[in-house]
Amino acid sequence: MPKVVLVSACLLGLNTRYSGQTKYNAKVASYLEQAELIPIPVCPEQLAGLPTPRPATEFQRGDGLDVLEGSGQVLNRLGTDVTDLFRKGAAETLKIAKLTGCDTAILKERSPSCGVNWIYRQGILLSGSGVAAACLKLHQIDIFSEEELPTP
Ligand code: SF4
Repeated sequence: MPKVVLVSACLLGLNTRYSGQTKYNAKVASYLEQAELIPIPVCPEQLAGLPTPRPATEFQRGDGLDVLEGSGQVLNRLGTDVTDLFRKGAAETLKIAKLTGCDTAILKERSPSCGVNWIYRQGILLSGSGVAAACLKLHQIDIFSEEELPTP
């Protein structure tokens, strides 16, 4: 049976980004083909119920793990607190991983939802993970960014 992998929808060519655009990544597409993986596209921010396009967001406090633990905060460019929505998007993403039997995810680096190793806090690029990425990792799903794809 073909193996499935969760993938940030924007990396696959879906127009899910805050700007309404995609972040299609040819390396991800070729990796999926080489490794014979079926991608399950997920956009945690759309799963949270946020519109597309939407105001850009970044961390005001902490990172994704801190948000899950209650001390982190995510604000959009208008200053609206979207922390609870980001938690919801992470939980919905985890549900899809469980429903589809994904034990691995390829996620868009530097996103406040999907960032694997890096996130923006108050305009500064810092080490940390996005909210959905942290949630998947906490539930034993292996996460990779498009910049560090595993060997096929
Ligand atoms: Fe892409 Fe993740 Fe942002 Fe959705 S939340 S647009 S999947 S980086």
